[in-house]
This record gives sequence, C-alpha cells and structure tokens, in this order.
Amino acid sequence: TKVISPNTSNSKPNVVILGTGWGAISFLKHIDASKYNVTVVSPRSFFLFTPLLPSCPVGTVDEKSIIEPVVSFALKKKNGNVSYYEAEATSINPERNTVTIKSVNNVSNITGESKEVSSGLKKDDTAELKYDYLVSAVGAEPNTFGIPGVKEHGLFLKEIQHSLAIRKRFIANVEKANLLPKGDPERKRLLTIVVVGGGPTGVETAGELQDYVDQDLKRFMPSIAEEVQIHLVEAMPVILNMFEKKLSSYAASVLEKTTIKLQLRTAVGKVEADHLIAKTKHADGSVTEQNIPYGTLIWATGNKARPIVTDLFKKIPEQNESRRGLAVNSNLLVKGSKNIFAIGDNAVAGFAPTAQVAHQEAEYLAKVFEKLAAKNLHKELSTSSKPEVVLENNGVNPFKYIHLGALAYLGAERAIANITYGKRSFYTGGGLFTFYVWRVLYVSMILSARSRFKVISDWIKLAFFKRDCFKEL
Ligand code: FAD
Ligand code: NAD
Repeated sequence: TKVISPNTSNSKPNVVILGTGWGAISFLKHIDASKYNVTVVSPRSFFLFTPLLPSCPVGTVDEKSIIEPVVSFALKKKNGNVSYYEAEATSINPERNTVTIKSVNNVSNITGESKEVSSGLKKDDTAELKYDYLVSAVGAEPNTFGIPGVKEHGLFLKEIQHSLAIRKRFIANVEKANLLPKGDPERKRLLTIVVVGGGPTGVETAGELQDYVDQDLKRFMPSIAEEVQIHLVEAMPVILNMFEKKLSSYAASVLEKTTIKLQLRTAVGKVEADHLIAKTKHADGSVTEQNIPYGTLIWATGNKARPIVTDLFKKIPEQNESRRGLAVNSNLLVKGSKNIFAIGDNAVAGFAPTAQVAHQEAEYLAKVFEKLAAKNLHKELSTSSKPEVVLENNGVNPFKYIHLGALAYLGAERAIANITYGKRSFYTGGGLFTFYVWRVLYVSMILSARSRFKVISDWIKLAFFKRDCFKEL
C-alpha cells in the first residue's frame, strides 16, 4: 500500500482529522494551522447542519442551504497547510500511526496558500496516511437494533441523501394513490407514513411532514391531503424524554391536535415491504399486536458506532469493552492511546450525542492542541506512560461541558425550548413565541455566513410561496 506522509517539508506535527461533521469542522475552524499540518479525511465533501435536516424532506428548507463545502472552511485557514482527502477512512492502525483510506473521488488536495496539489489518488485507490495526532470525529450510524426488514425497507434521516429519498418516496406514493379510487385499501396504505422513534429526529420529521400536508398539499389535492395519515411510534411512554415532563407533554398535545397518530409504549418488531408489526404494552401490563400497512417508513431510533470505530475497539486493549463509542479520558484522549483523540458521537465522554457536545469538545480540543504547541509537549506526550499527567502538569484543564439547553420543532409553528447555562435555566416554554426563539437560535448556530443567508431566505420565501417539494430534486 502507498504510504502518504502528509507533509515532510517542515517539522510541524501532522494532525489528521476524520470526518466533516460537527466535531471535525468545529475543530478545523479552531485549530491553529500555523502550528500543525492539518489533513481532513471524509467521504462527504461538505459540512451538514443537522438541526435543520428534518425541514428538508418537504422543502421547508432547501438541502443546499444547510450544507457548506469543506473547502470553504479550509480556505479560511490562511496561515498554514490544510489538505482534504475525499476518502473514507477504512481502518485506524494505532500500531503504525496510520489511517487506511479509500478514495471516493479523483480529487485534488487543497492547501492554505490556495495551491492545488494532487493527492495522486484515483477513485477506489487505497493508501495509508501517517499521523502524529489523530482526531476521530466520524460520528455514528443509524441503529436498526437488528430488527428484520428495517435496512431493506426503512428510510433514515441522518444525511442529505436521506432527505431526498424520503421526498421521492412520499411524492411518488401520493401520485400512485391519486390514481386509485377513494376507499381502496392500497390508496390508504400509500398515504400512510410511519415514523418510528419519538426522539427529536422522529418528532421534528413528523411535524414537518404534517406541515406540508396541512399547508401545501391541502391547497391542490385536498382529498388526498385529508387521507394522509402519519403515525409516530415510540416504545417508551413519553416522547422527547430529554425535555422536562411539562414540555414533553405539551409536545404530545401539539402533535395530537394535528392528525398525527401518536402511539406510545409501542415498539416496532418486524418490518415487511408494505406493512410492519408493532406491539403495544398497555398500562395494565397487557400487550396487543398491530399490523400497520405503510407507504413510507422513516426510521429514527438513534445511533450506533460505525465499523471503523468498532474495529478500533479490538485493537486497543483499554477499548475492548467499549460498545457505543471510544472511551475517552477527561482530555478527550482515547483511553489506551497517546495520540488519538475522539470527539462527538464516536466518543463516549458521558454526554448525550448532540451537535452541542461535539462543538464544545472540538473547541476544547483545539485549545489542548494550542497548549501542546506552545509548550512543545509533543515528545514528552509520546514517550510518557501517563499522558494525562503530562497534560495536567502543563496546565491543561479537563473538558467541561456547559449545557446550553435543548430545542425542538413540533410542526404547526410550535416549538419547545429549555435554554440554560449549565445548571441555570433562563427560559422554558412552548408555543409560537418559542418557535421564533427556535428559529433565531438555530440560525445563530449555523457555521457559515452563506448557509445562514440561504436558510433565512428559505424562511422568507415560505411566507409567500409553497414549499419546493419536487419529487426528483
Ligand atoms: P457527524 O456530524 O455525524 O459527522 C460525522 C462525519 O464523519 C461526517 O462528515 C461523515 O461523512 C464522516 N464519516 C463517516 N464515516 C467516515 C469514515 N469512515 N471516514 C471518514 N469520515 C467518515 N444535535 C443538537 O445538538 N441539536 C440539534 O438540533 C440536533 N438536530 C439533529 C437533527 C437530526 C436529523 C440528526 C440526525 C441529528 C441531530 N443532532 C442535533 C445530533 C447531531 O447532529 C450529532 O450529535 C452531531 O452531528 C455529532 O457530530 P459528529 O461530528 O460526531 O458526527
Ligand atoms: P433518540 O435516541 O433520541 O430517540 C430514539 C427513540 O426511538 C427513543 O425514544 C426510543 O425509545 C425509540 N425506539 C427505539 N427503538 C424503537 C422501536 N423498535 N420502536 C419504537 N420506538 C423505538 O434518537 P434521535 O431522535 O435520532 O436523536 C439522536 C441524538 O441526536 C440525540 O442525542 C438527540 O438529542 C440529538 N438530536 C437533537 C435534536 C434537537 O435538539 N432538536 C434533534 C435531533 C437529534
């Protein structure tokens, strides 16, 4: 295999970042590229602002509005070299300090001085990339819990192409249903959407779909719109359990006021191409089973670790027991390693897998890297048997997460929010006003000015026109 040493023309340490999501891009934005040679590896050439992804399938917000090319972030690093490989990391090799990568494109490698250097890799070529430090931020993948049929028939909502797939399926089903007579069970099936998982992804997606049906579809296909039935199926007795009870109950009441059918204590156990089987555990302990025919199935039951991460569990003895992600110490250093850090959803640091956590971890880690460079601790760290002691003795504080709260959109221009600073709560509410708070805060969280501009434009457009809900676009 070809071995690439990112930069041998200077003595700066090579930092390889895996991913272009919340953790990776936030870290890239903050790392001082004059002190490190920075290389980013990710099969996805853009950052995705996930909080607004549920608005995309029905075109409330355009897919292109919430993505931003990696190069936009890389080119801002004027004082150093930043390279990008459009490639998938297939294995981390701690014994050789390399990452095996597989190119997904015939890409060039860009650098900070806007020089274009070819990586020499063609599509499907593999190579090993040497690192002095590795920052793993590959996120997680949708969890199906091994439930039969989910992979084959369910649609997820984690990446931009998932949004396109949901729109295509739903609009195609509307078209097919329109050819069938009213009362035909096949028409009813085609117009049934089942969203599995009452976490924020499921709730927000169901709310957005219902908005489209109530606000747009109703105007030009009123009888079809009336027959669309969205089910939101949740195994636990509550939805949105990360919120306090008052807010999650309010959320349930908003959903029930629309025609969304909320099915609590109901777990989906089997999925076939046109129906699924779900079991409801009632308060008295009895269990009933139902068969729900569906046209569109959206699976939003949370995440699990990616193969590249589970593969690393086997290679580092201290990670042998890891399941959900890489166990990290209070400096976000992967336990059992001296030079692999993990942030975001692929790290288990005791916090929820959220963008907020990934972002704060990335900012913290960039500060750790600043200290390492300022005090030139590279050699000491790599030879010490207790890396955390080296960091502590040199004034590197442990990572401290400050919870700034949670927000969720419910549909019908209603949202819930709990805004905090650590343990202090500043605002708790639900309703129309909170919907505007939600909009303002989400726009402020977007990582690029272009994307922020586009999202605001999409919302202004929505005040005057219907959603851009085109099947093939
Ligand atoms: P990601 O952002 O998922 O990034 C992972 C990156 O790694 C991607 O670029 C991916 O292409 C890349 N990658 C994958 N495999 C490889 C590989 N083998 N090699 C190299 N690169 C790889 N959190 C909030 O705090 N607030 C919200 O409102 C919110 N809304 C959300 C809405 C939705 C629909 C979803 C799905 C999630 C939401 N989250 C929200 C959660 C948040 O998106 C995640 O916690 C966050 O993205 C985690 O960041 P990350 O960097 O760990 O992973
Ligand atoms: P989640 O893990 O938060 O929720 C998944 C839900 O699916 C759970 O409530 C679970 O009980 C349910 N479930 C699991 N298996 C089931 C089955 N077989 N049948 C029925 N229900 C089943 O997942 P998510 O909503 O994708 O969120 C993932 C992460 O991203 C979380 O940390 C979340 O906080 C974050 N996120 C945040 C926001 C926001 O802040 N607005 C939005 C989306 C995601």
